Amino acid sequence: MKIGILGAGQLGRMLAISGYPLNHQFGFLSTSNNEPSSLLGRMFINDDKSLVDFADVITFESENTNVEKVREINKNTPVFPSEKSLFISQHRGREKALFNQLNIPCAPYQIVNSRQDLKQAVKNIGLPAILKTTTEGYDGKGQFFIRKHNQISKAWESLSGVELILEGFVNFKRELSLIAVRDMNNNHKYYPLVENIHHNGILRLTIAPAQNISSQLQKTAKYYMQSLLDEMNHVGVLTIELFETENGLIANEIAPRVHNSGHWSIEGVNTSQFENHIRAITNLPLGDTTPRHNFCAMINIIGTVGNINTVLKLSNTHLHLYDKQERIDRKLGHINITANSQIELDASIKKLKAFLP
Ligand code: AMP
Repeated sequence: MKIGILGAGQLGRMLAISGYPLNHQFGFLSTSNNEPSSLLGRMFINDDKSLVDFADVITFESENTNVEKVREINKNTPVFPSEKSLFISQHRGREKALFNQLNIPCAPYQIVNSRQDLKQAVKNIGLPAILKTTTEGYDGKGQFFIRKHNQISKAWESLSGVELILEGFVNFKRELSLIAVRDMNNNHKYYPLVENIHHNGILRLTIAPAQNISSQLQKTAKYYMQSLLDEMNHVGVLTIELFETENGLIANEIAPRVHNSGHWSIEGVNTSQFENHIRAITNLPLGDTTPRHNFCAMINIIGTVGNINTVLKLSNTHLHLYDKQERIDRKLGHINITANSQIELDASIKKLKAFLP
């Protein structure tokens, strides 16, 4: 099939790499010819019509995709995931309303449109709390952590101008995520919970599967995911980010797409998140999501590429670069590590410590 992707970043690139062995072809809608996906298929520069003419099915690589555009395209060409998944997951308030509707625990929240709203929200929710933009935030951008009342004005001044949301602070032990995929016939496959370690709001290290996860916790996360997939009639990969707390799991946000915390699945799992997304949207049977190794990790390469020979010399690591120019805080690639024991995994991460903050 011919698959059109709205966007041409590293996620589109890795989707195409996983889709070519299945005999699919790819086209990308982009604003420039200098993107990670540029050499991986036909490029349509600001030309929605030609992409739609090219494609049998369309998907997107970002939740910041324009909903009206997807609605328009979907009149003639199928777009997966659904417009509903996109509409909900691009807005923190709509996500949290859905969590509440499905009895998925999440932080208390309130939408903030004025200084007065913010004061009232702080009164209702208490401090510490986090003020965030309702849309467009990523890698911790568009957020202000309010610890004390005298920071309220500064928080308002630094973010006002767009719709905001105040969220209660969650005192978490670990950050986890769960990735799953649903096909057009309501079949689901789940990847194991993974642990995500961030620095300055950017994911740096994923441990997969997350260690010391009880079967009850995995079951609960799967149950939350299942209700989200079914409620949104989602087709494709869906990710949920979770906080692990003393009192169980608290949902943070969802992403209607392949996710950075699932990159380990390229070598770590029988079928990667990328291949399963492609299988789901092209109506092929979903692939097995059993890990090939019990101890995997993914290290993001951020800002500068560094000494890749260190990676290439190791027998249990795989380098993935995205053909991007070096720039501060930019995701340029990642390293996947597969190991047969915790000791081997720890030793490998240690050898790659130059890539970690
Ligand atoms: P987000 O963009 O919502 O994923 O937020 C980026 C990071 O900020 C998360 O990975 C957490 O480390 C932290 N964070 C976000 N929301 C909260 C919250 N309500 N309570 C505690 N930490 C949070």
